[in-house]
Formats: sequence, structure tokens, C-alpha cells
Amino acid sequence: MHRLQDLGRNPRTSNSLIDDRDADGSVPPDYPQTVGSLADPSSLTPVGRFAPSPTGDLHFGSLLAAMASYCDIKQRDGLWLLRIDDIDGPRSVPGSADSIQHSLEQFGFEWDGPVQSQSQHAERYKSALAAMISQKRIFACSCSRRSLPTGEIYPGLCRQNTVLYDATTSDYTVKDHALRATLTGSVSFIDAIQGPQHTQLEQHLGDIIVWRRDNFVAYALACAVDDAQAVTHVVRGADLLGNTSAQLAVMQLLGLSEPVYAHIPVAVDADGHKLSKNSNAASIAEGSALPLLLKAWHFLGQDNIQASSVSDFWSTAIKQWKLSCVPAHMTVAL
Ligand SMILES: [Zn+2]
Repeated sequence: MHRLQDLGRNPRTSNSLIDDRDADGSVPPDYPQTVGSLADPSSLTPVGRFAPSPTGDLHFGSLLAAMASYCDIKQRDGLWLLRIDDIDGPRSVPGSADSIQHSLEQFGFEWDGPVQSQSQHAERYKSALAAMISQKRIFACSCSRRSLPTGEIYPGLCRQNTVLYDATTSDYTVKDHALRATLTGSVSFIDAIQGPQHTQLEQHLGDIIVWRRDNFVAYALACAVDDAQAVTHVVRGADLLGNTSAQLAVMQLLGLSEPVYAHIPVAVDADGHKLSKNSNAASIAEGSALPLLLKAWHFLGQDNIQASSVSDFWSTAIKQWKLSCVPAHMTVAL
């Protein structure tokens, strides 16, 4: 059974954490300013999360991310949220959210509160978009993917198509264009595993898409808003390290609290390639959960663990976990 704590109230949002900036026009008054710079990080309940996309079954790479974030936050006596990142409608596979949840249960993970889904957060994303529009940071980009040079920073062709904030409507439904955010300056953070990171936004990131041409919120905006809303410690795969600057830039633009980050290495085969579907499987045949947990534990660079059952494994693992033992590499061969 999962611990059904009342998460109706954001665990981070107790009274004094409300952002008290004046409504000076830079942020629409209805924007949910739940967390802000007044927050004293030491007074917060640590909150971690596992946020799989429902694009297939749980695989070994996701098991690694789940295990690392779970051990990290449980060792801090924090809450662990399960969030299904299902905003990418076209890529979602029916039934895979249930399948992932079922696998996590078999692996013995216990998440706190109800399972969340990004598809339930549409209003939150629209408010965030409206806030960025009111700051004149959003423009409509009608460039097709094919018309842009591949692998290069977006050259700012449509920057003059500024979308204006209209207080009478928060509906900025797009048609035949995406919405991009103008990002300037730089973002720096210290990744707890990969070390100091620094990104000059204009040179290395460019104007990111925050709302897609097919009218889905872009991952960078959705993930930034959800993590800032509820999460203090993000532990995930290093394949997402490159997305972190964009997410931090969005949080900074919106004046939201930033979580701390740790990016674990991605498992690859001996040739350095992403694991194939077969070698990446983490589906559990009867009785095989413990060997897979031990394999993941070993991959994460942890000291040997003695465990005779799944529950035995977790009670020891949470005590024994050392983030400092996780290899500080982007990839590790399995
Ligand atoms: Zn454009």
C-alpha cells in the first residue's frame, strides 16, 4: 500500500513560502505563485519525484532513475512523488502508465500521495505561459522544422512576432505556429553528480519552444513548472542534463524556486550505444525483482548489499545509499 498522505496542499507551500512580489504587471495576478525566494530551503520537506513518460514499459534505464531518486529522498526523510509525464499525446502508448505503475509496485517502490499526471495540469501550464507572455518573452514561430538548419541554435527569425498579453483571455491556442521564449543571459548550477554546469543561453540554447505547433505544452515548460511547484530534489538520467538549463531559465523567468539536481549516468552497451529494447528490459518475471534491483544498485556504484527479499533490499538500501558513489559520467557501459 502506498502512503496516502494529503498532498492536496503542496508540501513546500506552507504560509511563509508565498512569493510576495508586487503584482507589477510582470506576472498576471492569477499566476499561482506558490513558492518563492523567501523560502528557506532548510525548512522544507524534501520532495523527490520519478516522472516517466508513458511511452512503453518500465525499462532498466528508468529503474536506475527511480532507484536513485527514491534512495536519495528517502534517506533525507522526504516524500517521493510519482508523476506521469504524459503531455506528449502522440507518443503516449495506451496502457503504459498502468504498466509502469505495476512494475514499480513489484519492485517495492512506495510513492507518496496520488499518482499525478501532467495531462491534469493544463491550467497550470497556461498560467505560466500567460506570465511569460506578459513579460513580452514569447513570440510566435512559424518556421517548419525542415526550414531550420538541423542541429543549430534557432536563429531568431520570428522574434518580431511578439505575442501580447491579453488579460481578458488566457487562451493562446496556437495554429500553424509554435510559441518560443526569448532567453537571455546565462544559467549556472552545481549538479550533485556531474559537477558545475554553465550555459550561455543565447549561444548554446537559443529561443526554446514552450508551446508546440500541435498545441501541446512543450516538455521544458511543463517539467519546469511541475518541478518548481512541488519538488526540491530532481534525480534523473544524464540524457536530461542538457534540458536542465532550459528548465532553470523558465523557472527564473517565472520567479519560481529551483530544485537541486543530480544526473545519474545513462546505461549503454559495450559500444557506447543506448541499450536495445531487449537489453534494456526491466519487466519482472516471477521472482526476478530482487536480481534486477541488485543489478541497478551495482550500476549506480553502490557498495555491496546483502538482501534476501525486496523489502529487505529497500530497508538496507535507503540507509546505505551514497550519492557520492554514483559515477560522475554521462554514460556507463552495462
Ligand atoms: Zn521561426
